[in-house]
Amino acid sequence: MPLIDLGYPLSNNTPPFPGDPSVEIKILASTAQTGREERQSLNCGQLTLPIHCATHIDAPYHFYANGPTIDQIPLTDCTGPAVLLDLFDLPVIDAQHLSSHREQLTAHHHAILHTGWYRQWGEDNFFTEHPVLTAAAAQLLVDCGVHLIGVDFPSVDRPPHEAHLVLLGNNLLIVENLTNLDAIGPRPFDFSAIPLAIVGRDGSPVRAFARIND
Ligand SMILES: [Zn+2]
Repeated sequence: MPLIDLGYPLSNNTPPFPGDPSVEIKILASTAQTGREERQSLNCGQLTLPIHCATHIDAPYHFYANGPTIDQIPLTDCTGPAVLLDLFDLPVIDAQHLSSHREQLTAHHHAILHTGWYRQWGEDNFFTEHPVLTAAAAQLLVDCGVHLIGVDFPSVDRPPHEAHLVLLGNNLLIVENLTNLDAIGPRPFDFSAIPLAIVGRDGSPVRAFARIND
């Protein structure tokens, strides 16, 4: 059963969400160290990054002070059979674009929205012109009983964050910045996005992948 990686790699060059600090990967010890220092016997690094950077998951606490934090989310909510919705080249995803998928959405707890925007990764407009979900689209996902959505763009909306508020207010989880969705194709699959158990926080970087079931 092939696994398809749906996440971005992390490096000092990974672009953070605008306004957030950059990813910083420092070398604490290196076997390649030269000069006066003695060569070290191991490699060890340190990672610093903002939580909503690259491929990550939002917990309800991101917008709701009384909502569950990421360490309180059961792992079973982060993995399971998923539906992939083709929503190519739509700048605004409204309820009308999702309503024809209602039956599939009702049958799955995990919905992955494929717009193709991930192909813009690294371009100047990646964070400024990405697709957004309307509040009505978010409400349709809630009404269909979806537990988690994943999107291939950096945020489900822009201020005043109406879609975030509807989704997280109904305890849906949001995975942002998925990539490589073309590789899934029409096959049935399980989606997984596994967070770190960061105590009391609003989200986590994830390793996201699809497991093809055929
Ligand atoms: Zn986020």
